Amino acid sequence: MSHLEMHQFICRTDNYGLLVHDHKSGATASIDAPDAAEIEKQLKKRGWQLTHIFTTHHHGDHVEGNQSLKDQFGCIIIGPKAEADRIPGIRKQVSGGETFTWAGRDVKVFDCPGHTAGHIAYHIPAEYSLFAGDTLFSLGCGRVFEGTLDQMYHSVNQFKTLSPSTYVYCGHEYTQANARFALSVEPMNRMLQQRAAVVSTLRQEGKMTCPSTIGEELKANPFLRTDSAEIRRNLNLATASDSEVFAELRRRKDSFK
Ligand code: ZN
Ligand code: FE
Repeated sequence: MSHLEMHQFICRTDNYGLLVHDHKSGATASIDAPDAAEIEKQLKKRGWQLTHIFTTHHHGDHVEGNQSLKDQFGCIIIGPKAEADRIPGIRKQVSGGETFTWAGRDVKVFDCPGHTAGHIAYHIPAEYSLFAGDTLFSLGCGRVFEGTLDQMYHSVNQFKTLSPSTYVYCGHEYTQANARFALSVEPMNRMLQQRAAVVSTLRQEGKMTCPSTIGEELKANPFLRTDSAEIRRNLNLATASDSEVFAELRRRKDSFK
C-alpha cells in the first residue's frame, strides 16, 4: 500500500490546514476546516476532491469552513460526539477508544478534554501520524478553556505511548513563541536549544516548523517533560506530582510575555 500524501499549509493567520490524500481510492480528508476558500484553492492545485473532514473541536478557527465545503463537495464530516451540537454539518460522531476505517486504514480516536471539553485527536498508526488539533503543539500545548488542568495533563500525556516516530500534526504554527517559553523553564536542555535554533531559521525563511515527531517532542516540549529535574528546580516544585508541575507550566505560559 502506498503512503498517504500529506499536504500542509498555513491559513487565516497561524492555523495549519492539512489535506490527507489516498492515491489509490482518491479519498481526501481535510483535518479541520479553518478556511474554506484556502482549502478549496489547495485542493484545486492538487486536483483532489474533498471526501471527508476530520474535526478536532468546535472552535471557529477549526470548523468555520465545514458548511461551505460540505455544500460544495458533499464531504462527510466526522467529529467529536461530546460536542457534536457545535460542529456544523457533522455526519459521523466519534469518541475516544473508537477505531474507524478510512482509506483502508485504521483511524484511532483519542479523547482529549482540556482545550475544549470534547476535543478529540486522530491517530493513523499505519501512517505514523497524529492529528492533535489544539491539544499538543510543537514545544507547547493548547490553552485550557473548558476542561481542568489535570484533564489536560492526561490528554497530553496519553500521546507518550505512541511510537517516537509518529508525526505530530497540530492546529497552529505557534512553535517559535512556544520555544521562548520552553527555554525560560529549561534553558540548559540541549535538544531544546537545537530545536529552537532550527525553528527560528525556518520562520525567518517563512517555512513551517511542523510536523515534528513524538520523539522530538519528548526531548524538548516542557509539557511532556514534567519529570525534568531542571524544570522542577526552576518552578520550585522538586517533589510535586507530574500533574502539579504540568498545571504550573500551563499557568505560567498563560501569562508569559
Ligand atoms: Zn481551539
Ligand atoms: Fe485553534
